[in-house]
Amino acid sequence: MIALVTGAGSGIGAAIAKRLATDGHTVAVNDLSPDAAKATVESIRAVGGTAAAYAADVSDEGAVNAMVGQITEEFGAPDILVNNAGFGHQALFTEIEPDMFDKIFAVHVRGNYLCTRACIPAMLEKGVGHIVNIASQLGQIGGVELTHYAGAKAAVIGMTKSLAREVSAKGVRVNAVAPGPVNTPLVEALSEDWKAAKRAELPLGRFGQPAEVAGVVSFLVSDDAALFAGQTLGPNSGDVML
Ligand code: NAD
Repeated sequence: MIALVTGAGSGIGAAIAKRLATDGHTVAVNDLSPDAAKATVESIRAVGGTAAAYAADVSDEGAVNAMVGQITEEFGAPDILVNNAGFGHQALFTEIEPDMFDKIFAVHVRGNYLCTRACIPAMLEKGVGHIVNIASQLGQIGGVELTHYAGAKAAVIGMTKSLAREVSAKGVRVNAVAPGPVNTPLVEALSEDWKAAKRAELPLGRFGQPAEVAGVVSFLVSDDAALFAGQTLGPNSGDVML
């Protein structure tokens, strides 16, 4: 299948792109950073996979539509869309500036909407498709200094459930993955104190690795997950037990 993974130049997205390529899919690697996207593509090609880089800001409607048009021309319409692009930001509620609030929602929520909007018509036409939205456990339980981020991730979970209700009967499966802390540049940037305290309270006693989240995505787009629609799977080291 043709897979588009957004924000795949780093961390979890890069691991998802590599895993889907290893699974035999052709991968369109999106990132805001052209160099980061190219680096992921090179690592996929180095092990015999098929991939191409597409630099675009997922919150920019024109750029998203142009990217999906180009992928469709070069490989065919994406059968798999993984909405992963995102960034972290921590601030007390009283210190969140309106511009940052808007930016968090633009990338995580509007970006998800725009990429899904660009890809889903072809999936519906074919009667088959997979959408996996990378949310966060913070969208389920909230977090101090994370009102904007957790709010955006909760929106992603709500969108996942609603869209699944709308399109599952038409062959498109929509699910979310809500990771706990995963060792990526996003988490490495947090304070050592926070990381030590968080690690100590996790039932599994450690943060996740990007490849462990990628394995969940690989499962969700496989036939083994045929009964999963509108679900939020939680690779979170046992932090959230629903
Ligand atoms: P990361 O910083 O390693 O990678 C994110 C990538 O997204 C970067 O390469 C960045 O350039 C790209 N990106 C950012 N804004 C973009 C935009 N507007 N358009 C296109 N690309 C853009 O971060 P990560 O930890 O791998 O996070 C990936 C996703 O997982 C994010 O949605 C994040 O919120 C979510 N997440 C991460 C963790 C964690 O602990 N690392 C936990 C839960 C959820």
